[in-house]
Amino acid sequence: MDEFQIDDDHVRVLSYAVKVRGKGYAVQTGLALERSKALLSSYRRNMLLLAPAMILLAALGGHLMSRRALKPVAALAAEARRITERNLETRLPVPVANDEISDLSCTLNQMLERIDKAFTSVRTLTGNASHELRTPIALMRTEIEVALYRPRATEEYRAILNRLHEGTVRMTSLLESLLSLARADGAAEAVSISAIPVLRLMNQVEQTWTSPMMKLALDFRVVRPDGDPMVLGEPQGIARLLSILLDNASKYTPPGGMVRLRTIIDGPRMVISVNDTGIGIAPEDQVRVFDRYYRVPRVDSEAPAGSGLGLALAKWIAERHGTELTVTSALGGGSCFSFSLRLQPSERAEDLQLTMSMSG
Ligand code: ADP
Repeated sequence: MDEFQIDDDHVRVLSYAVKVRGKGYAVQTGLALERSKALLSSYRRNMLLLAPAMILLAALGGHLMSRRALKPVAALAAEARRITERNLETRLPVPVANDEISDLSCTLNQMLERIDKAFTSVRTLTGNASHELRTPIALMRTEIEVALYRPRATEEYRAILNRLHEGTVRMTSLLESLLSLARADGAAEAVSISAIPVLRLMNQVEQTWTSPMMKLALDFRVVRPDGDPMVLGEPQGIARLLSILLDNASKYTPPGGMVRLRTIIDGPRMVISVNDTGIGIAPEDQVRVFDRYYRVPRVDSEAPAGSGLGLALAKWIAERHGTELTVTSALGGGSCFSFSLRLQPSERAEDLQLTMSMSG
């Protein structure tokens, strides 16, 4: 196929040879290219004009579509911007469609829930701490000011210092309870369970409590289990729980009374109980004593020092161990607080390095 120019016109010519009755002929056909060229140049012109318009249209369409798709995200962002530390209880709307946006919204709501809990527990702790500590601190301050008003005998100073020491011990214990309860309100932290040798724990408790109980003229005894069993629990938590129960038994049992710490194996569990022959708790108060700040109203005499937080904390510790702290009591007939822990089946006590501290 060849292309020729005749004057200004371009012609495309196709030549081929044919044989007719032994004679050879050359056949040529030609086509003027003007129309094709005009068509091509008009197509090129149109493309040059249309392509930018098409690109513009596609970009605009894409932008509109993405805006439409991201509209719920923008709405979520606007809602999220409205949430501050003052309205942390607000939750983001969750779209009905079960897509990534509703997933995102649910995740953000769960995060808000956790932040809200943490904020509330910090606020409660600050509120409770300032409320609970204001009075004892004011009392201690007055006591110090009175003591410093004039020179005193050594014995008098000793007595004042003893009272101040008792005050600081009480405040420390109160602060510890407040902190533990604030932690209880916050995100659930894992309990680090280990095997606790019961005999060692009982010995420590006996050592800590024999002298204070004796000072209060209370007959205190620890009833140990047979053998050397181990229970599964958080050593510090269990020590704290026992310390709360024994502190209460010592506070609410008049002199001459009895306090028993008993450990009894019951199948795969060990029941630990603190019995006393104290003032007892009326049936209607037995549920409420586990509430924060609840103290049974006293008519006879002044109530011993306390914050009403001990049993709430003890109950929380028991729950963390998957057990329940229960009370059986009768007004004037003593009380028995008990809970149970799982027994560790095999290991021996000496194989485990345990740190147990009797706090509180
Ligand atoms: P606190 O002893 O600081 O007041 P708790 O939470 O430990 O706080 O106890 C709540 C209340 O339950 C006490 O104020 C007391 O009235 C009652 N209670 C607790 N333990 C005993 C007990 N062993 N005997 C009689 N009453 C008790």
